[in-house]
Amino acid sequence: PYVISEPCLDVLDKSCVEQCPVDCIYEGERMLYIHPDECIDCGACEPACPMEAIRHESAVPPEWADFIEASHTFFDGL
Ligand code: SF4
Repeated sequence: PYVISEPCLDVLDKSCVEQCPVDCIYEGERMLYIHPDECIDCGACEPACPMEAIRHESAVPPEWADFIEASHTFFDGL
């Protein structure tokens, strides 16, 4: 799946939300999260983000790796 990371924190621009064909981008308290089981890897959200916060899971920089885990725990907690 694609993953939203650090640059989204306290920004929540939401430009990505309307691009997602399966509506799998959800709003948390401080950032948006992509549901890892619902994302179909289309990539449409990535260029929509003005913060460049969205990348495929395989391309998330190591310093933001925690956001991959967070995208799972966020939905576990719902
Ligand atoms: Fe939605 Fe496609 Fe982005 Fe996945 S990659 S969150 S399906 S827009």
